[in-house]
Amino acid sequence: MALTQIPAPAPATPRPHGVRRLGVRARRDAATRLVAGSALWLSLLLVTWWWVSGGGISDLGGWASGLTSLGRITGLTSAVLLLAQVVLMARVPVLERAFGQDELARVHRIVGFTSFNLMLAHLVTITWGYAGGSLGSTPRTLWDLVVNYPGMLLATAATACLVMVVVTSIKAARRTLRYESWHLLHLYAYLGVGLAIPHQLWTGADFTSSTGRQVFWWSAWIAAAGSVLVWRVGLPVWRNLRHGLRVAAVVPEGDGLVSVHLTGRALHRLPVEAGQFFTWRFHGRPGWTRANPYSLSAAPDGKSLRITVQDVGDGSGATAGLTVGSRALVEGPYGRLSPRARTRRKVLMIGAGVGITPLRALAEGLEYAPGEALVLYRTSATPLFVEELNELSQRRGLVVWGLPGRRRAPDSWLGSGVDAPTDLVALTSWVPDVADRDVFVCGPRPWTELVVRDLRGAGVPEHHIHLENFGW
Ligand SMILES: Cc1cc2nc3c(=O)[nH]c(=O)nc-3n(C[C@H](O)[C@H](O)[C@H](O)COP(=O)(O)OP(=O)(O)OC[C@H]3O[C@@H](n4cnc5c(N)ncnc54)[C@H](O)[C@@H]3O)c2cc1C
Repeated sequence: MALTQIPAPAPATPRPHGVRRLGVRARRDAATRLVAGSALWLSLLLVTWWWVSGGGISDLGGWASGLTSLGRITGLTSAVLLLAQVVLMARVPVLERAFGQDELARVHRIVGFTSFNLMLAHLVTITWGYAGGSLGSTPRTLWDLVVNYPGMLLATAATACLVMVVVTSIKAARRTLRYESWHLLHLYAYLGVGLAIPHQLWTGADFTSSTGRQVFWWSAWIAAAGSVLVWRVGLPVWRNLRHGLRVAAVVPEGDGLVSVHLTGRALHRLPVEAGQFFTWRFHGRPGWTRANPYSLSAAPDGKSLRITVQDVGDGSGATAGLTVGSRALVEGPYGRLSPRARTRRKVLMIGAGVGITPLRALAEGLEYAPGEALVLYRTSATPLFVEELNELSQRRGLVVWGLPGRRRAPDSWLGSGVDAPTDLVALTSWVPDVADRDVFVCGPRPWTELVVRDLRGAGVPEHHIHLENFGW
């Protein structure tokens, strides 16, 4: 393992988004969420209106015409939601900042399953309707539609792609797959969405029968494809070319953890904040094409970056073997566990295990007066960053409480040393003003779910809980 010098520490330069502008960016993000949600609902309303004005409701009066009509509305709404899904996962910076990737992935999952169910309903009802409402004739009609109508063979391939993506995303199936395999299969969704478009254009009168409709659909398709090309592909390529990140040092932190220090060009122009994460590919590492998400474990100072990685599998395990000078390719920064989410002067940070990494960076990057920032650090192994946290305590008045020991019960997020009757009682006795704080939480998902349960129980409003889960 290469163990070389850490780059000389640059003086910490807290970014200007601190206490003075508290809540400004959080309010802007809330407005963005409202606009994005409204745009989606208005799009659904618009296509429903087109369906109504095209006789959609009156057609429901007849059996066969009713089935065809249902096929039209389900097709239209599923097409809107399919495109919305693509945009949700296109890493559009304004959406990433407003929602955070965890929340976008959650919404994407709901929208994805809904659009898929609507697509299946569309397929069944439209074919059944075209078969004059006769179930017996439906298979023949389906065959006729697929082989004789323009774009329908492509639509069939699109359906196959989307079925594969959805089946592998059902929780039970997903658990049996490695993240990388699931992710690779998931990329077929793009193919599915792309292959579905021709049949909409060539056979779907609802898509092309007026200028307004053509403008709407073309804009939506271009926006979805453009978002992917610009933000999912173009921006990372440009950022990597511009900054040329390289490993400057690999430092063991004990217990299978290593910190990787990186330098690059013009890092002061990289728009990243403490608490955020990138997905990383290290050139030369075995399996280097597979990306892993890691949070910054130190506040960015415009000259270097640092991540701290726990060995849990092939990718993370190979991190200790990185050599100085290796090229790092990143996507990001992502995540809302950052000063931009903050609305309160007082903050509480709760982390478990390696989940302390973004909180360690936040403790450095946030502005606060002595005593205003409190860290609860749950650990069953040797704690990380002890010296650095102590230094922040002495220099800036950060309060750090360790919560050591094994978990005291399966439904507890606390260690065995705590003797309060419930976790909620413990939390509110340690932090009586918890409901008045912004709370940043990071750790494995089952653990963060327990923490969030008690934060809600303690009266912390939903929009003051900022969460990063280390898992997918
Ligand atoms: C937003 C975020 C920030 C993270 N920050 C850190 C950090 O600062 N330090 C740290 O040690 N760990 C962090 N993790 C966890 C880290 O990404 C995984 O431990 C790592 O990717 C495991 O990869 P592997 O190839 O070693 O293991 P594998 O054997 O491939 O995977 C082990 C487990 O890691 C998770 N995982 C693997 N790849 C990914 C991926 N691309 N996205 C999400 N989860 C994945 C899965 O749950 C998987 O079951 C973070 C995770 C997320 C989602």
